[in-house]
Order: sequence, then C-alpha cells, then structure tokens
Amino acid sequence: DIELKNNLIDIDIVRQGLPSRKKDTHKGSYGKANIIAGSFGMTGAAILACKSALRTGTGLLKLYVGESINHIVKTGVPEVITVPLQEMRKGVIGINHIEKIIKDSKEANVLAIGPGCGNTSELAEIIKQVLVKVDIPIVIDADGLNVLSRDKEWFLEKKSKIVITPHIGEMSRLTNMDIEEIRYDLIKVAKDFAIKWGVIVVLKGASTIIASPEGEIFINVKGNPGMATAGSGDVLTGIITGLIAQGLEPLKAAITAVYVHGLTGDKVARDKGEYGLLAGDLVEYLPYTIKDIV
Ligand code: AMP
Ligand code: MG
Repeated sequence: DIELKNNLIDIDIVRQGLPSRKKDTHKGSYGKANIIAGSFGMTGAAILACKSALRTGTGLLKLYVGESINHIVKTGVPEVITVPLQEMRKGVIGINHIEKIIKDSKEANVLAIGPGCGNTSELAEIIKQVLVKVDIPIVIDADGLNVLSRDKEWFLEKKSKIVITPHIGEMSRLTNMDIEEIRYDLIKVAKDFAIKWGVIVVLKGASTIIASPEGEIFINVKGNPGMATAGSGDVLTGIITGLIAQGLEPLKAAITAVYVHGLTGDKVARDKGEYGLLAGDLVEYLPYTIKDIV
C-alpha cells in the first residue's frame, strides 16, 4: 500500500505512518518494546537506543543489561525499565537468560538487539535462539549483525519479521563483499540480500536504501554529514523499534524511521551546524520533528 515516486520516501508517507495519540488511552496503548543493548564501555549505545524509542512514543520499554552497568544506564535514562542480568564476563550477558528473554517477548510488540552489545559468542548464542523462538518483529543492529556475519543461515530459521540496519562496513562483513563493490550498486546489494535471506534491509549511509524481502526499494535522502558521528545509528534503531512497538508494520516503520531520523539531523544542523552535532542532539530534537510532521 506504499506508493512512491522514484522510490523516494516523502513526508506524506511518513505522516500517514505515524501513530496518532488518542484521548482515552494509557501507556499500554502505545506498545511494549524490549531491547538488548550495551556492554561494559558501551553503555551509551543502550542509552541512546532507549531514549530514542521513548522519544518516538513507545509506551513501555524494557532493557536487558549486564548487572554491572545497570546503574549507568538507569542514570542515563531513568524512564526505561531495566532487567539487570547476572553476567558471564563483566558487562556481557549470557545464554542462561534466554528463557526470560523469550518469555517476556510473548508480552511485547518488538525486540531490538545489538547496539553496543560487543561482538561476543554469548551474543551469537542469544541471537540464534531469538531467531528460532521469538515470534514478534525483531530489529537487529550493530554487533547483532557482526555476530550473524559468521552464521547467516540462521536468518532462514526466523519465526518473525526481521529488520536489519547495517552501515556499509557491517554490510561488507555480512556479504563478504568489498566496501567499494557495495558502494558501486547499493540498491542491488540491499535488494539481493533482502530477497535471499528474507529480511528487511536498511542499508545506511549518506543516503539510505531500504529493501523488502519482496524486492521493493525505498530511498531516503534526508540527513547530512553531521550525522556521521558516534551513536547516530543507535538513535535510528530506537526510532524503528518505537514505531513497531506502536503498531507499524516493520517495513513501514523502517521507512518512516529513516526519514524522521534524517529530518531530525537536518533540524539539528540548522541550529548547531554539522560539526558539533551529537547523537544526543538527535534524541533531543526528535520530539520536535515528530511534532512538526503530525
Ligand atoms: P551508524 O554508523 O550505525 O552510527 O549509523 C550512522 C547513521 O547516520 C545512519 O543512519 C546514516 O544513514 C547516518 N549518516 C551517516 N553519515 C551520513 C551522511 N553523510 N549523510 C546523511 N546521513 C548520514
Ligand atoms: Mg551503528
């Protein structure tokens, strides 16, 4: 039902996609999202993803996190419900928590995995189990993709719709292609991967390509080089997660999120310029972007 001129994402598509807030509602009306993110030294990724999901309108958000970094995350984002888990190694949660993660997903609308998790064998085991057993939409980013690079056939065992959000380096690891080769035909690379593995691909860069498993292509050209900064992608993951939580189909959530993320970057750049743009600024400006659209 998504019609586009030249495959370019535009404001009308995004406007129809954003969930409306109705009077007689409560936080349960705006979705439940669960996130696995962060590790020792990479708590910022978890904080940015959580804040972005909340700033997008998610009603209830839960974060699974190693117990040693729980207090850091809670300080960064008090609105998230954390589930502090016993660790295998400092800051790294192990496969022994998989039953809880799977059980909780039965009461949630979306699960996101990867930002700042670390490229560990523990994460690989968790992702495999999640793909096989979780039947709500799953957003996989960053280290979640790095661990899958070794075992892509796990995608074929998935129980639900998957959105992956690689930048070109992560796409290079996922496909075993050179970065130059990917850049030469971004659209073909995204589309081939989406069709072959049955996942929604968000191939991030100066422009971002979204490919569906059916071979449809959507292109975003909003955003600016100020967004080439640490944590920018974690914000996008949070926005996609927040939109799925509120009931958007994963493909529509990805399309809407990428555009909103780009517009937000442009809004920050208008005020502060591109040099000093921080991922945290995207989080702070996100509500104003959404306010202006709806
Ligand atoms: P990540 O590398 O995971 O932090 O993701 C970076 C995010 O910033 C992606 O959403 C990119 O599309 C966006 N981004 C990075 N560089 C640019 C650029 N030069 N112009 C527009 N967006 C960009
Ligand atoms: Mg990233």
